[in-house]
This record gives sequence, C-alpha cells and structure tokens, in this order.
Amino acid sequence: MNTLFSLENKRVLITGSGRGIGFLLAKGLAEAGGEVILNATTQAGAERAAAQLSARGHTAHALAFDVTQSAQVNAAIEQIENQIGAIDVLVNNAGIQRRRPFLEFSEQEWNEVIAVNQTAVFLVSQAVARRMVPRQQGKIINIGSMQSELGRETITPYAASKGAVTMLTRGMCVELARHNIQINGIAPGYFKTEMTQALVDDEAFNAWLTKRTPAARWGNPEELIGAAVFLASKAADFVNGHLLFVDGGMRVAV
Ligand code: NDP
Repeated sequence: MNTLFSLENKRVLITGSGRGIGFLLAKGLAEAGGEVILNATTQAGAERAAAQLSARGHTAHALAFDVTQSAQVNAAIEQIENQIGAIDVLVNNAGIQRRRPFLEFSEQEWNEVIAVNQTAVFLVSQAVARRMVPRQQGKIINIGSMQSELGRETITPYAASKGAVTMLTRGMCVELARHNIQINGIAPGYFKTEMTQALVDDEAFNAWLTKRTPAARWGNPEELIGAAVFLASKAADFVNGHLLFVDGGMRVAV
C-alpha cells in the first residue's frame, strides 16, 4: 500500500505554491516522499515557503516565475530540468479571483483572470509535457473549482477560466494518455484561504454555504492533500481525464 501511494523518487513542480492551497499541496506531496519545487511570483515568497519545508526535513526548491509569461515559463522549466532534474509531476495550481457584476467587468480584468487560470495551464503543461513525452512518463494535475461546472454571480471570468481547465484536462488527456502521461484535475469546493477571505468574513455567505453544502461546513485546505497524492502516485496510473471533486458533496446537491 505504501508503494502504491509513495512519491519517493518523484520530482513535483507546484505552481503558485508560496501560500494557500498550493503551499499545503506542496507540503503534503513532500510528506508523501516527493522532492518539491515551489513557485510564486517573487523569489522571496517561493524561498520562504521552501524554507519551511526544508526545515521539516523535506527536499524543497524555490523558483519564481510568472506562469502567464511564456518566455519565463520556458526558461524556468529548462532551468529545473537541467539543474534539479526531470519533472515527474506538475500541479497547475496558480490562480486568481476577481469579483464584480458581469456588466461591470473590464476587459483588462477578464484578461488577467484568463491569463493566470487558463492560459498558464496551457503554457506550463506544454513546456513540461514536451519533456515528459520522450520519457513516456508523467502526471499533470490541474486545479479546477466548483466553477469548473457551476456558474455563480460576480465571478463569470473565473468560472469561464475554470470551465476551460476541465476541457484543457480532457484535451491533454486524449493526446497524452498514450504516452503514459496521466492528466487529471482536482475541483475544490469552498476552502478557507486568502482567496476566499471576503466570503469567510461575510456572515450571509457563511449561512448560505453551510446550508448549501451537504457536509455543512467549509473545507480545510489540508483535506485536498489526499486527492493530490492519489493523482500524483502510481495508484492513479490508469486514471485519465478525471476531475476529482473535493467539495463536501456540493456539486451533487440542489
Ligand atoms: P491564493 O490566492 O491563496 O494563492 C494563489 C497562489 O497563486 C499564490 O501563491 C500566488 O503567488 C500564485 N500566483 C498568482 N498569480 C501567479 C502568476 N502569475 N504566476 C505564478 N504564481 C501566481 O489562492 P488559493 O490557494 O485559494 O487557490 C489556489 C488554487 O485553488 C487556485 O487555482 C484557485 O482557483 C483554486 N481554488 C481555490 C478555492 C478556495 O476555496 N480557496 C476553491 C476552488 C479552487 P504569490 O504568492 O507570489 O502572489
């Protein structure tokens, strides 16, 4: 059983892992035995996070790059592969949120959300998968959302981008599965992080959320770790194109 879920000898890159869910996933994947590479928009942010994992005895590297900039992405992936080693698992986690009524969104805000949540998944996955294909091995995990399937007021660009993550996952799956590369996604429900702080602070939202979610509570970000370890491990060698909802049952309830 340990071998099935162990990430020993696996090198994992997690985008947007300086804080929030990405950092907790990096910690969980490291605890499962993985060597992790943490990414953030600043080197200081990535190093602070990596130092916390190194202090716990894990092998953790830090590399800042902007996931929306193809030149930075390609240079970073080349640097990792040449100086640290082959990337066995990629977790596309970096994401941003903007809240506004649909009629008031600016084109710039739309572009910002699409760039980080959608285009970056394409850019980073392509750069990494081009190296995984000759090795005939790899795993890519895309972080989606409830909004990968459900709409919600004030976050239309986010929902559009997370819906695209579902189809990026499926599109990459149908081309890359034959190369022994498993592409899957995790769709978190509502978790308490900096991104959702405005909702956590909103009493009316809290009341709605606990009534709407069968599990009747917010998710604790640590509860996403099991799904990530599973999809990164040998246990998921024949799991392809799947979006694993970790949402307290929200998606299946009216
Ligand atoms: P946070 O806002 O807490 O963290 C976002 C992370 O993404 C940060 O590390 C940030 O880096 C990084 N990031 C943002 N833009 C870029 C960029 N251009 N290049 C590189 N890194 C970038 O978000 P969460 O932890 O809440 O969310 C993580 C993922 O989970 C996202 O994809 C989000 O959509 C998804 N999710 C979150 C849910 C929740 O309830 N919180 C629910 C469903 C999905 P830096 O630290 O340098 O700013």
